[in-house]
Amino acid sequence: MSATPSSAGRNWVSLVPYGLNEQHPNNYKDIVDAMWENRDNLGYAWRILRDGCCDGCSLGTTGMHDWTMKGVHLCAVRLALLRFSTAPAMDWHLLEDVAPLKNKTEKQLRKLGRLAVPMIRRKGEKGFRKVTWDEALSTIATQIKSTDPQRIGWYLTSRGLTNEAYYAHQKVARFIGTNHVDTSARICHAPSTAGLSATVGCAATTCSYSDWIGADLIVFVGANPANNQPVTTKYLYYAKKAGTKVFIVNPYKEPGMQRYWVPSVTESALFGTKIADDNFQIHVGGDVAFFSGVIKHLIENNWIDREFIAARTVGWEETEAKIRSLSWEALERGSGQTKADMFRFAETFGKARHAIVVWSMGITQHRYGTDNVRTLVNLQLSKGNIGRPHTGLMPIRGHSGVQGGAEMGGMPGAYVMGFPVNEANAHKFAEPSMWGFTPPTWKGLSAAHMVLAAERGEIDVLWQSGGNFKQTLPEPDLVERALGRIKLRVHQDIVTNPTMLVDPGETVVLLPAKTRYEQRGGGTETSTERRIIYSPQIPGGPDIPEAMDEWEIPVMVAEKLDPARAKAAFPWKDTQDIRNEIDRVCPTYKGIAALKQKGDNFQYGGPRLLVDRCLTPDGKGHFSAVELPEEKVPAGHFMLATRRGKQFNSIINAEVDPITGARRDDVLMAREDVERLGLKDGDAITLRNELGEFRGRVKVDRVKPGSLQAHWPEINVLVPAGRLDPSGVPDYNATVEIVGASCLAVPESEAQTIGA
Ligand code: SF4
Repeated sequence: MSATPSSAGRNWVSLVPYGLNEQHPNNYKDIVDAMWENRDNLGYAWRILRDGCCDGCSLGTTGMHDWTMKGVHLCAVRLALLRFSTAPAMDWHLLEDVAPLKNKTEKQLRKLGRLAVPMIRRKGEKGFRKVTWDEALSTIATQIKSTDPQRIGWYLTSRGLTNEAYYAHQKVARFIGTNHVDTSARICHAPSTAGLSATVGCAATTCSYSDWIGADLIVFVGANPANNQPVTTKYLYYAKKAGTKVFIVNPYKEPGMQRYWVPSVTESALFGTKIADDNFQIHVGGDVAFFSGVIKHLIENNWIDREFIAARTVGWEETEAKIRSLSWEALERGSGQTKADMFRFAETFGKARHAIVVWSMGITQHRYGTDNVRTLVNLQLSKGNIGRPHTGLMPIRGHSGVQGGAEMGGMPGAYVMGFPVNEANAHKFAEPSMWGFTPPTWKGLSAAHMVLAAERGEIDVLWQSGGNFKQTLPEPDLVERALGRIKLRVHQDIVTNPTMLVDPGETVVLLPAKTRYEQRGGGTETSTERRIIYSPQIPGGPDIPEAMDEWEIPVMVAEKLDPARAKAAFPWKDTQDIRNEIDRVCPTYKGIAALKQKGDNFQYGGPRLLVDRCLTPDGKGHFSAVELPEEKVPAGHFMLATRRGKQFNSIINAEVDPITGARRDDVLMAREDVERLGLKDGDAITLRNELGEFRGRVKVDRVKPGSLQAHWPEINVLVPAGRLDPSGVPDYNATVEIVGASCLAVPESEAQTIGA
């Protein structure tokens, strides 16, 4: 039993030192493990930590510090990623026969070491053969030259790449004539971009992390930053000290958001820190209903800011009418929360002067993700919670490149930030002072749409800089089939992954790239809070003589295609030249050219956006009358949501999640469901739907009854492809049944209809 903390430690978890009686990460062991893993190049690993901008999530650092708090900023995610930068070259002969490699996991492939040389594999060959850079580039250029640009796709990962690399890649893609350009933002935060752009006119977080500390209330919706952005727990430690309340809206009571032991704060490391003040366990997909119910209470109790609404917004009347028309019965059924629960939230929220809403993929990865975001905007606009200190809208990004990748044009709908794809902007970019060539104006495809198009035989060339589609996208069999139909696949990367080993349609080319820390001239990234941070080149890395700079590789292909035009379009020697150009063509990034030293940074737009006006054409915040989404869960079935463990995207770092104690094949279930089905903790079960089966084990946990959670990407075998939000993000949820227990399953009377 936990001892009871004294009132001196009102946020303490218990008096048991280091939470020795609790399940939680051992961050000190993570440090020792990282030292052991990088022991062959420990000095270089240290210099990356000391001087580099973290290539993990999107909080952003310079070395091991940030701009939110004093003290050390370091976490296990960053330590686990270090090996990408310190590993020696792999024995490239291993790639001469891919059959043995196909049995290896992503982790085993990664552990082989860095891609060392350019290699090519043709259809029917058992593996890759080493080629010169010249042969690799000529092969790519020859295929591109004979391909309709509308059949060429370009995909850029969101981890590790710099703004300069995104800019160079997408500019080359447009030089070739395609708008099928995308980043992995398209499988996470595209609904945030779409929802925020349409309502407040900006696609970025409107406040700063430092606004958390001193806010009356922070609301986390569908987000688990304790796992995905671990240093946020330190920010929350300081916020709780300052009196900030934390509400969690999620179908699962994420243990890391209930309490955490922050390793670099003695008090928290010893006694833990309670984070959540209240939890609202909604249905999977119950967000619109829940927050519509909250707004209904705000209206009925006059807890809305009518002055702000009148002065700064449009569309309130329709939204108010819509919300008033929704019955409490529909809102309770849709949200999985009672009218009283929604009141409890509304009362604290309505009386708070300053509140911040933070969300992540629990909001976005639905086929109605953009509507979910619009609803959160409604909530904040109804209280005037934008533009003031300690208020704001924060789509927290999980990868270091998600923000900058899209802003640098790594998306189908914009050349760079502020210049959507259209005739007028194409004309502007054709001017010699801009790009000097006319980019295409047709509508490009998102990443998920590119793969669906490939399955239909409509894509002939796919360039992938990073990325591992075979594991990250729904329906791996469909993805493999689609990739196998593409004539030429180019994989520019640091290490080997399973997607590279998919058999060629005609040709697969592997191109070894340098890490961000090896690029000459360094590079920049943009954090969630819109801070553009310079990360210097760090000498002393592994010896990979044939690896090339990330930004330089596509430029070399452009030079093969059309030397004269390419010379004029890409006159860059290093990343400083690219920053100079970005500074010139992207007004929001004005100032990037001056970033030259470790720690140089600036926050575009200042600490807060939307201070006096929104960035919409009329300067107003736009309310949205959002329909309740409908999810039918047939009797005997469950709504399955996907979740992350100790991993970074599809990079699995451990078989057991130290925060939840869940193994990779565990299926998190509510105790009520487990008992009703006659199951018990640890039982083997099979989840099944029309796509396939997943064999796992029951883990009794605090999930919403009627729902299940299992680890992504393994569970992708049950997630249907093609169910996309209009912004292009796949819906990573599915209805499933538990085979063998269905005779005992949820009775007809308890079948759920979430929504209208
Ligand atoms: S919280 Fe994010 S930015 Fe900070 S060290 Fe960890 S991975 Fe890097």
